[in-house]
Amino acid sequence: MPYPGRRLTAVTAALAMSVTTCAFANPASADMGQGPDAKKTPVATGYGGAVSTVDLDASAAAIEILRKGGNAVDAAVAAAATLGVTEPYSAGIGGGGYFVYYDAGKEKVSTIDGRETAPAAMPRNAFIDPASPADKPVAYPFIKQATSGMSVGVPGTPATWERALERWGSMKLAEALEPAIDVAEDGFVVDETFRQQTLENKDRFLPFEATRKLFLPGPDNDAPAVGSLFTNEDIADTYEHLGKHGVDAFYEGKLAEEIVSTVRNAPSSTDPKTLPGPAGVMTTEDLDDYEALDQDPTHVEYRDYDVYGMAPSSSGGTTVGEALNILDVFNLADLAEGEGKGSDNTARALHYYLEASALAFADRGKYVGDPAFVKVPTKKLLDPVFGKERSCAIDPHRAATKPVAAGDVGQYDGVCPARPAALADAPDTENINTTNLTVSDKWGNVVEYTLTIEQTGGSGITVPGRGFILNNELTDFSPVYNKDDPNRIEPGKRPRSSMSPTIVLKDDEPFLALGSPGGSTIITTVLQTLINRIDLGMNIQDALAAPRASQRNTANVTAEQAFIDAPYGKDLATRYGHKFTPAGDPGKSAAEIGAATAIEFSDDGKAATAVAEPTRRGGGSAMVVKPSPQK
Ligand code: GLU
Repeated sequence: MPYPGRRLTAVTAALAMSVTTCAFANPASADMGQGPDAKKTPVATGYGGAVSTVDLDASAAAIEILRKGGNAVDAAVAAAATLGVTEPYSAGIGGGGYFVYYDAGKEKVSTIDGRETAPAAMPRNAFIDPASPADKPVAYPFIKQATSGMSVGVPGTPATWERALERWGSMKLAEALEPAIDVAEDGFVVDETFRQQTLENKDRFLPFEATRKLFLPGPDNDAPAVGSLFTNEDIADTYEHLGKHGVDAFYEGKLAEEIVSTVRNAPSSTDPKTLPGPAGVMTTEDLDDYEALDQDPTHVEYRDYDVYGMAPSSSGGTTVGEALNILDVFNLADLAEGEGKGSDNTARALHYYLEASALAFADRGKYVGDPAFVKVPTKKLLDPVFGKERSCAIDPHRAATKPVAAGDVGQYDGVCPARPAALADAPDTENINTTNLTVSDKWGNVVEYTLTIEQTGGSGITVPGRGFILNNELTDFSPVYNKDDPNRIEPGKRPRSSMSPTIVLKDDEPFLALGSPGGSTIITTVLQTLINRIDLGMNIQDALAAPRASQRNTANVTAEQAFIDAPYGKDLATRYGHKFTPAGDPGKSAAEIGAATAIEFSDDGKAATAVAEPTRRGGGSAMVVKPSPQK
């Protein structure tokens, strides 16, 4: 169910005034000049650069930087830093993420892996209830794992910003952080979403004094009231500190010591039913050793397009890519059109989408983990011949019984029937909060960036006096150790992610950039949006807004109610045998799948259409620098 509209800061209002004078043309931009009534808009088409995020302030920060002459990378860092202020439960310097960049000069896609890492002393039994039998270990309930010092991975976000700016940026970190500092100092107006997220996390926040003080400041530890101004001087100071001294000041010295002490001395309870979980084992050496990694992107060809994504440690690029290779075998556009137009034909195409996704998820579970620790057959998973062989497993008329077995990357020839491998996918414990942003600039560079602190509210642990929450990303490892599981816990390792920032090129020029939050549903949101856009003939705004369904190799397909109720949803259930489970609890954000952002480029590459969610999470904010080539 949609939430009411997002916050507005004093800064947004001021920027909105300046933006108005630069005459945003589309309805989206016109809304920007109305001070306290400024509204988010989900679609903006124009020139000179564009941005889409979930948040008005973050999009405004990117536009401010682009208007100052910054490039897409500078603007992406500015937007991400602002999200660390206005969306502190989804993202911030206490977390990690994946940054994908198209360099217009080189016509090349590159990526940075800024995933959190496990400390060197991370034990295999980090999340195991010590009261469970040694030969049948049982993990603590997920919420207890997630609310713990033990769940905190060494953050990668500050190092990602530094690396991105160093490789491709034109501004210093201090300059890129300015808009976020303004928002933190001036404050933003609390809306329903912020209050509700705070209250939903109250039990997790209460044990941690610094979190309680910052986010539950009201009488009886009430969450900030809707309409009140929320300032965060601590994060403003922390950003200023990093701007002045560089991100080394995060990974070494006083701040690093404070992070370590916060994690190691976090309160904990041994009662499996009582929060928090175990304290952490991070050291200052772990922080000092952290590196954001330059990575080659994944690449597949799909129809007339080149699709680039994030390589492991994220499973995003391999899983989206493998599913596309499977789907490339079929002509979905024809299937959807077919003879005698009607909902049945849409269902016919979507049946393949769901089945291809299940197959790709089976392979994700068996093969994908941190490549620094396990041999990940990335090339084979993305081999079109492997995809062709996997496509043999799809019955055109019937949903397969799930879970389906993984394929065998050791022997395949693209000829049916395919040989299955042994291990099926492990249960999914990922959560559904994160954030995503898309930015382009007047030079044609594009950034797609997904960043997170994992759970809504991360570990629940705020570093005292520093204004940010630490992640709980280490819960993305499989909690019970199994030596054959590529995502088993290991010291120094990056837990497998599903984040799927994706850039699609046509003839070496950007066609579309997109990404989403949503735990493992990120993969299916990106995949479904691509199918909607490329095969099912939707424009990008419709492709992104369309009801979503997510088949992750489980007995039931998680789907938004609107998908289940649509004629094609009914056909998928009755004619093809897909079983649906509505996403989340109605009335909570989890009833939605994802919160995507995208930018699509015109054929000549000059105009950009930025697109955000019209309703999910209260709707996102799309903006452009100029409404027309002249202005
Ligand atoms: N931890 C998740 C991942 O890395 C992201 C969290 C989310 O989107 O909810 O895939």
